[in-house]
Amino acid sequence: MSRVVVSGGAGFLGSHMCDKLLDRGDEVVCVDNLVTGSTENIEHLFDNERFRFVRHDVSEHVWIPGDIDAVMHLASPASPVDFARIPIQILKVGGIGTHNLLGLAKEKGAKFLLASTSEVYGDPLVHPQVETYWGNVNPIGPRSVYDEAKRYSEAMTMAYHRHHEVPVRIVRIFNTYGPRMRPDDGRVVSNFVTQALQNKPITMYGDGSQTRSFCYVDDQVAGQLALLDGDHTGPINIGNDHEFTVKELAEIVVKVTNSSSEFSYAPLPQDDPTRRRPDLTLARSELGWEPKVDLETGIVRTAEFFAKLLGV
Ligand code: NAD
Ligand code: UDP
Repeated sequence: MSRVVVSGGAGFLGSHMCDKLLDRGDEVVCVDNLVTGSTENIEHLFDNERFRFVRHDVSEHVWIPGDIDAVMHLASPASPVDFARIPIQILKVGGIGTHNLLGLAKEKGAKFLLASTSEVYGDPLVHPQVETYWGNVNPIGPRSVYDEAKRYSEAMTMAYHRHHEVPVRIVRIFNTYGPRMRPDDGRVVSNFVTQALQNKPITMYGDGSQTRSFCYVDDQVAGQLALLDGDHTGPINIGNDHEFTVKELAEIVVKVTNSSSEFSYAPLPQDDPTRRRPDLTLARSELGWEPKVDLETGIVRTAEFFAKLLGV
């Protein structure tokens, strides 16, 4: 049994991570300031004596009493809508928050896992994206608060590894979706599924020809746990390598929800990446991990969650 700190544990990915860690017998300290998370995602855990919730902003000094085996830094708003709404908080949690949690890991002799992102590749000129690609990021555009914070957090993580010998793991997460996303978080899966369920227009940005590769949350969490338990230090892509246009996603959502929604078109946001697909060679060979859930199956499960939440 390990004692694991999960920052961002009341968020979408973090709450699933808390579930899986507890399922396998670990003890979990969830640290979250609820800026984009919710206690609804973790209230089913409050009776578990191996679970503890600490409401705290990790951009302020973090201290957790007792032994800690691993620190998983999942805290950060992640939706492009938030990049405009709370840009400074995003820069702080990626920068200062990462520094604080690395300091905690160093002090406790714990392993550190950083939730990084495919956004470190920016609007990629190499396709599919392999971990050795350094990316194509606009350092001053509206997405830079997130992209550059994550790039800085990777640099800080590697510096703690080289300089302080902290054992580190870096996961570059590609678009992940599933139950417990916020219906109004602005990301494409939440938007399309909630719109389709209510037979409202599906808001396509641009002509819908841009691509993404969507990973179901259970696959994502399994990949991150394999990374945490393994001994690979450098960044590893975790996602699903089946690539879809945004329009193809919309068509799948409309089909599985049996919706009468039509498509509406709006301009593509600035610096919106034109294509994205992970090269998963390293994850497969180093972790023996494989994404298992296809997009249609995952969208059905996500739609069931949103239908219940919206009462439709
Ligand atoms: P989310 O918004 O649901 O979860 C983030 C959680 O972090 C929330 O509970 C929020 O309240 C908390 N948080 C934010 N700032 C904090 C702070 N300063 N102190 C304490 N808690 C704070 O988003 P998510 O999709 O679950 O993302 C989780 C992590 O995965 C993030 O680091 C994100 O950058 C990364 N990621 C996610 C995706 C994805 O597709 N879901 C893709 C790439 C990277
Ligand atoms: N998108 C869209 N309609 C929406 C929300 C998003 O067409 O209502 C597009 C967005 O422009 C991008 C893709 O869907 O090309 C994925 O967007 P998301 O915000 O989920 O995350 P990103 O991958 O851009 O970080």
